[in-house]
Order: sequence, then C-alpha cells, then structure tokens
Amino acid sequence: MTVRMHIDLDKVHLIVDGRRHRASLSSAPAPGEEIDMFCGLTDSVSFTTAPEQLVRTCWPCDLHYRRALGLAIPPTHHNSSGRER
Ligand SMILES: [Zn+2]
Repeated sequence: MTVRMHIDLDKVHLIVDGRRHRASLSSAPAPGEEIDMFCGLTDSVSFTTAPEQLVRTCWPCDLHYRRALGLAIPPTHHNSSGRER
C-alpha cells in the first residue's frame, strides 16, 4: 500500500534568501532540480516542513503571477523593479 500525497502546486512556496518567489510548475520538482522563477532567478529545490520565518514577497514574481492569472493589480503594488516601498 502507498500513501498518495497531494501537492497543490499553486500553494507551493519557493523561498530563496527570505523572499517568496513564484514559478510555473507543471509537476512537483525533484530535490536538487533547478527551477526558473518568474523574476529570472534560478535555484535548486530542497523541501522542508519547518514553519516559515519572516518572508518578504518577490514583487516581480508577484506581478507576473497576477498578470498570468488575470488577478487585479492594486495601484499600490510594488512595481517590477523589485523595490519595496
Ligand atoms: Zn522572484
């Protein structure tokens, strides 16, 4: 018997150096596999179940994600330069 573990790829948090990024994932990546994130950053995957510490948003990734899904982009959204207000 096996246990089937469902991973909602839209809910996967990609954290690099305390910043949450987004990527288009078609399947769960294997540990060590490299992922290209929307902002252009590429890094290899490791998994953890540890709770997240303070994490900031990668605004370029967030902007790309919102546009791809047709979500509203509030006028206060940080622009794609990655600057934080
Ligand atoms: Zn990013």
